[in-house]
Amino acid sequence: MFVGTFFMKQVKRSREAQKHVVACVAAGTCLVPGCTDKIHTSGRCQAHYQSYQAYKRTMTDEEFLQFTLKLQGDGTLLRPQEIRELKRNDSDAVAAREIA
Ligand SMILES: [Zn+2]
Repeated sequence: MFVGTFFMKQVKRSREAQKHVVACVAAGTCLVPGCTDKIHTSGRCQAHYQSYQAYKRTMTDEEFLQFTLKLQGDGTLLRPQEIRELKRNDSDAVAAREIA
């Protein structure tokens, strides 16, 4: 139930943040600014993905959802399916998310 609603919400990402995301995915490096480690999951290296996941234990489901949306909007965490869209250069799908 929670997982279903989890991925329906979207927050807009600034042009600047979107550029950062596209550049990192192309280079295969972690989205966290200053980190040059390889992407492991959701656009983050293993260490940064784990630090994101660690917040799950300290937050309610709703708080963790808001936290996740904020990171996705900031461009430091990928949205579900996003890496696939970026890798096959599906700019239509990426643009559709931006206005959704
Ligand atoms: Zn990292």
